[in-house]
Amino acid sequence: MSSLLPADRSRLLIGGKQVEGADGVFATVNPATEEVLGLAADANAADLDAAVDAARTAFDETTWSRDHAFRARCLEQLRTALQSHVEELREITIAEVGAPRMLTGGPQLEGPVADLGYSAGLAETYDWETDLGVAEPMGIKTRRVLRREPIGVVGAITPWNFPHQINFAKLGPALAAGNTVVLKPAPDTPWCAAAVGAIIAEETDIPAGVVNIVTSADHTLGARLTADPRVDMISFTGSTATGRAVMTGAAATLKKAFLELGGKSAFIVLDDADIAAACSVAAFSVCVHAGQGCALSTRLLVPRAAYDRAVQAAAATLGGIRPGDPADPRTICGPLISERQRARVERYLDIARTEGGRIVVGGGRPAQHERGFFIEPTLIADVPNSATVAREEIFGPVLVIIPHDGDEDAVRIANDSPYGLSGSVWGTDPERIRRVTEGVRTGTLSVNGGVWYSADVPFGGYKQSGLGREMGVAGFEEYLETKVIASPA
Ligand code: NAD
Repeated sequence: MSSLLPADRSRLLIGGKQVEGADGVFATVNPATEEVLGLAADANAADLDAAVDAARTAFDETTWSRDHAFRARCLEQLRTALQSHVEELREITIAEVGAPRMLTGGPQLEGPVADLGYSAGLAETYDWETDLGVAEPMGIKTRRVLRREPIGVVGAITPWNFPHQINFAKLGPALAAGNTVVLKPAPDTPWCAAAVGAIIAEETDIPAGVVNIVTSADHTLGARLTADPRVDMISFTGSTATGRAVMTGAAATLKKAFLELGGKSAFIVLDDADIAAACSVAAFSVCVHAGQGCALSTRLLVPRAAYDRAVQAAAATLGGIRPGDPADPRTICGPLISERQRARVERYLDIARTEGGRIVVGGGRPAQHERGFFIEPTLIADVPNSATVAREEIFGPVLVIIPHDGDEDAVRIANDSPYGLSGSVWGTDPERIRRVTEGVRTGTLSVNGGVWYSADVPFGGYKQSGLGREMGVAGFEEYLETKVIASPA
């Protein structure tokens, strides 16, 4: 299907070379059809070791970490090369991720590719050195200079839901900062990463070993990368459970663990909002990419007095969205990534029923699809915020609607969660909105539909949604060490 992946068989990128996996190949599946799309190189522990070795050598023995202008040029070159292959990448992404075509014009592909330009810009314009001036600590007149330097070898471990967005949100700033990288993508989306590896190897001047891409069916390679003493930092995006394992795994070598984890964000509708319009927006947004987005607001909190009206409005929107072929430009809700993921969502729907929840709309597999891991957009009503489906991340097109008794109560419910990733607030009174946005403990918040997603905006979570920020200057600085040089003045 692609000249990037000759014979529909992808390879690893290790030490600048595209190589076969020592464990042979594994299948990558089209989630919309359940057909095997093709084969991906299956790396084993020895491949991973070689990749780490290559990254270590490139960091320690080349000028990559010190040549800011060269790195900026390489990142621009990568962006241009990716853009020249954008149509091939789009088809791979739709087929492998089940990503709706419409999203590939934005966060599923073209957005993050363009955003490499932001990272390239930072490599050139960042203040790598700051003069802290002269002081006289302990009576010794001293000039202090603060220098920012790359951390070293970064192990990047990523999930399948927005593979390009997350791979580039790590590669861009990590490389711009002067690090070298070993990227271990999710087993469900190896081609998205391998295609990027092919472009890096063949169409950029990025030196051998600076980027290594190790696809594998074996999740334990992630743990191995985390534990490797030659790796200085782990940049992880995935579930909170795995994030916990990564933090534990990183502890033995005390390496930095940067974590972007799960969410159970709240969509707060205040009583002065247009309730029906707000609920309709909330319902629509949980269907985007079949709800497989960490930052989606999956708990809809509505004024108790308007509960029935709100349920009706959300149900009408959810019932009107048909999961469809992701290749169709009109589709917003495609399939889930895998049978395993669908089974997980169905398990949560069963739990909702067992715990007394009312499935207002949806709740099963859509009749019109015999194949593909589709699930109907679903609304669950009449459960408290303590219900399992209100506490745990489902990662499907499933919205839970919960009544609140005013602004303070809405904030209390929003914060009554182990997560703190994102959320939305809808209302008209700016003072009330301000108080609510001050009260909600999450990394990003949208007010009345405002969009926070952008290359220059740091994204990440409070509480168990993560540690650190991705994107923006803050996201770039995650990949830097701080050094201070003190000389007599
Ligand atoms: P996952 O945690 O199962 O896997 C993520 C990655 O970790 C994969 O590459 C996997 O192979 C690897 N991995 C598995 N076990 C490991 C271990 N013990 N040590 C190191 N690596 C290991 O997540 P997923 O199912 O691929 O993705 C969905 C999850 O990702 C959801 O929870 C979602 O909220 C989260 N997510 C978070 C963000 C964010 O920025 N906060 C963005 C997207 C997705």
